[in-house]
Amino acid sequence: MTLERTLSIVKPDAVQKNLVGAVLAKLEAAGLRIVNTKMMRLTVGQAQAFYAVHRERPFYESLVTFMTSGPVVVSVLEGENAIARNREVMGATDPAKAAEGTIRKAYAESIERNAVHGSDAPETAKAEVAFFFSGCDL
Ligand code: ATP
Ligand code: MG
Repeated sequence: MTLERTLSIVKPDAVQKNLVGAVLAKLEAAGLRIVNTKMMRLTVGQAQAFYAVHRERPFYESLVTFMTSGPVVVSVLEGENAIARNREVMGATDPAKAAEGTIRKAYAESIERNAVHGSDAPETAKAEVAFFFSGCDL
């Protein structure tokens, strides 16, 4: 048994389409518990820092513009193997490749406007949770 925590973001496309509840419901149905959640609008600096790992990629600037285009809902999720579980229920980055029943299959518009973010490993989960939440929030 590995109880883990991971960071989830409902991205601006899904928030704009009124899908916050639908996305969080799919995460909860997958056995993930919401430890804390908040709506915020990322600044350009915050989005650049959050996705700094992609700064050399051709899509980086467009990704930052998209992620700052409207509010997002940032959550800490907890559960058994929460990091992998969340990635599984999110589905593939490209919705055209996402499996049936996944969030991205249901709600993503494109490889960029793909509805959700989820941490990809224990180290990134820890860093991303700390990026958005203080110890006293959790
Ligand atoms: P995330 O990190 O948001 O959870 P991911 O881990 O599935 O998604 P990454 O490779 O980390 O995918 O890419 C980060 C984000 O950058 C993607 O979710 C998507 O919004 C955007 N992105 C990735 N690849 C492309 C691409 N080829 N063209 C446009 N945008 C892209
Ligand atoms: Mg990623």
